[in-house]
Amino acid sequence: MKGSMNAVVKTQPGPGAELKKVSIPEPGPNQVLVKVKATSICGTDYHIYSWNKWAEKNINTPQIMGHELAGEVVELGEGVQSVEIGDFVSAETHIPCGHCYQCKTGLQHICVNMEILGVHTDGVFADYAVVDEVDIWKNDPAIPSEYATIQEPLGNAIDTIRAGEVSGKNILITGAGPAGLLSIQVAKAFGATTVIVSEPNEYRRNLAKKLGADHLIDPLNESLDDLVDEVTNGIGVDFVAEMSGNPIAINQGLKQITPGGTIALLGLPADEVELDLTSDLIFKGIDMIGVTGREMFKTWYIAKRLLKEKIIDIEPVITHRFPLEDFAKGMELMKSGNCGKIILLP
Ligand code: NAD
Ligand code: ZN
Repeated sequence: MKGSMNAVVKTQPGPGAELKKVSIPEPGPNQVLVKVKATSICGTDYHIYSWNKWAEKNINTPQIMGHELAGEVVELGEGVQSVEIGDFVSAETHIPCGHCYQCKTGLQHICVNMEILGVHTDGVFADYAVVDEVDIWKNDPAIPSEYATIQEPLGNAIDTIRAGEVSGKNILITGAGPAGLLSIQVAKAFGATTVIVSEPNEYRRNLAKKLGADHLIDPLNESLDDLVDEVTNGIGVDFVAEMSGNPIAINQGLKQITPGGTIALLGLPADEVELDLTSDLIFKGIDMIGVTGREMFKTWYIAKRLLKEKIIDIEPVITHRFPLEDFAKGMELMKSGNCGKIILLP
C-alpha cells in the first residue's frame, strides 16, 4: 500500500518520542499489513519512552514504538497462507525463530533467538503495522478492539495464574499494575476462593477493589503478615502471583506461602534480588516458577474464551483512552502510576 501514515517514533536515544509522518510499511514474505484500530501502552513502552538502562542497551533508533494491538488485515506478503484480508487480528509479540531447540519442542515463547515486536522491530503505535504471520492471532468478532489489544498482557496474567493450582485456594497477588489487576479476574475465573492484593499505590488498590479483590493492603504501611494470618487462619496462602518485580514484594510474598505452595514470578526486578532460600523456599518445599510472555498459543485460546463468554470483565482495567497523537499524555500517566491500561486510538 502506497502512502504515508502517523506513527509514534523513537527518533533518537534519550527520553521522549515524536509523532511523525512516515511511509506505510510493506509486508515482506510471511508478513501481513494490519490497519491498527486500537493499541495499548505497556510498561516496556514507557521504559523505551523514558529511556531507562534496559532501553539504552536494547533499542535501536529510529523505531516505531508499541506492541499491543488490534486491527484489520489489509495486505498480505508473499507466501502468507493462514491469514486473509479483512481478518480482525491481534498479535503475539514474541517473534520465534522456528529453528532452535525450544521452538522445535513446543516452547516458541522462550525461543533462544527471540525478537520482540516494537522492541527489535518497528511497532504498532501507528496507523498501520507489519506483523509476522506466525504471530497473528485471529480475534473473535464479538470482542471489542479495545479489549482485543489487551489480550497480550491478559495472557501474562493467565500464564502466571495457570502456573499454580488456585481453584478453591487463598492466593496473594503482589503488585496491582495492569498485570496484577488482570490477574484478579483471571484468578477468580479459575476458581480462587480469596484474593488478597498488596499494592502501595492507593489509586491502584481502588481499581483492584473494583475488579473483585477480597482484601487489599498497603504492604509498606500495614502488616501483610497479620492480614494473611487472619484471612487464612494462620495457614498462609497457597499461591502467590508476583506482579511487581519489587524485591520487598518478592520476599514478602515468599514468607506468606504455606509450605508446599507455589510462587509464580512475572515481575521483572531491575537488579539481582537477595532471598532467604533456606528458610523461605527449600525447607518449605515451595515451587518457584518464572513466567515469560504467553504460551503460544494456548494462552490466547484461554483469553479468547474468557472475553467472549464474558467470564471476566476487564473494563475497569481500562482507565484512559487517548487519540494516538496524545501518546505523551499516556506516558505521563504511566510515570505517575495513577492508571490501569491506557488505550491509544489511531
Ligand atoms: P507496573 O509497574 O505497572 O506494576 C507494578 C506494581 O507493583 C505497581 O503498581 C507498584 O506500585 C507495585 N509495587 C511496588 N512495590 C511493591 C511492593 N513492595 N509490594 C506490592 N506491590 C508493589 O507493571 P505491570 O505492567 O503491571 O507489569 C508487572 C510486572 O511484570 C513488571 O515488573 C513488568 O516489567 C513485568 N512483566 C513481565 C513480563 C514477562 O514476560 N515476565 C511481561 C510483562 C510485564
Ligand atoms: Zn527459536
